[in-house]
Amino acid sequence: MGSGRNIEEASRRSSRRLHTSRTLPSLPSHPGLQSISGLRGALEFLEWPASEWTPKDLQDWFVDHLVTPGLMKRPQIVREPGATPVMLDPRADGSSNLEELIHKARGRVITALRGLIAPVADDRFLNAAIYGGRVRRAAVGGRPVWVASPREIDFLGDIVLSLLAADILLDREFYRAHLCICEVCGRVSFKETADARGVCSEHRSSVSGFTPRVR
Ligand SMILES: [Zn+2]
Repeated sequence: MGSGRNIEEASRRSSRRLHTSRTLPSLPSHPGLQSISGLRGALEFLEWPASEWTPKDLQDWFVDHLVTPGLMKRPQIVREPGATPVMLDPRADGSSNLEELIHKARGRVITALRGLIAPVADDRFLNAAIYGGRVRRAAVGGRPVWVASPREIDFLGDIVLSLLAADILLDREFYRAHLCICEVCGRVSFKETADARGVCSEHRSSVSGFTPRVR
């Protein structure tokens, strides 16, 4: 990869970042969570439309949120149950398969998160991450924390869930109290209060109306 980035590529990435930071749901204001990049990485994955990802984007996402922080090696290929594996080679044309793969991975992540805040909580994905070795205990500044530790062979959805699990294991009650998943669009955000937790701000009116849109 030693060829360096050209200007067009660099500006595309920076515009994507602006786009991302503008549309990301506000990160929780909980002081312990603010500095954790894993949550930011997971939210970026969940926010960006599946159709807009290229293999290069996904490779960059891995580098930013997993490889550079030292959490895993850069994968050559990504997998997800029921989807065609995609090579993370910017020269390969895997975009059509990538959309389906990301769509399936995101669906699995959203389903797991919904379980966390369901009336009868189902947080089996946390135990699966622990026993699967995709999160591990560590100490940061003398304080015990969890960090994501996925492997290159893990499914994409499980890798994203490992980023979330590391955060959720630190403060599960915060997520139970504030996590919001929109019934209409699946957007993940955080609310100060428990009211209207099933809809994002954009779809609050459409759900109270007659015909909720389904994406
Ligand atoms: Zn919504």
